[in-house]
Amino acid sequence: MPKIQRRVSRKTKQIVMGQCTRTTNLEIHHIKRDGGNDISNAQVLCQKCHSATHTYGEPGHSPLDFPADVKKKALENAGNQCQCTSYRGCH
Ligand SMILES: [Zn+2]
Ligand SMILES: [Zn+2]
Repeated sequence: MPKIQRRVSRKTKQIVMGQCTRTTNLEIHHIKRDGGNDISNAQVLCQKCHSATHTYGEPGHSPLDFPADVKKKALENAGNQCQCTSYRGCH
């Protein structure tokens, strides 16, 4: 008896198991602490993922807040969703 092959519906959106998909309590994370307040240094993370980054809450110089327009743009780019890249189960 031949095996019935189930066709998996093609999804354009790849949802990785365990990846954070939170859309609330979003904050803008500085990818590089000394990378400036440019959009290229901005990453949207939810509060939980943000607090789990290795630079968060470190003693010493903390980077300046992103300007409102950069925050807005970053959120737009992220589709108002956490951009956590921790694929091995989120925090
Ligand atoms: Zn998150
Ligand atoms: Zn996360």
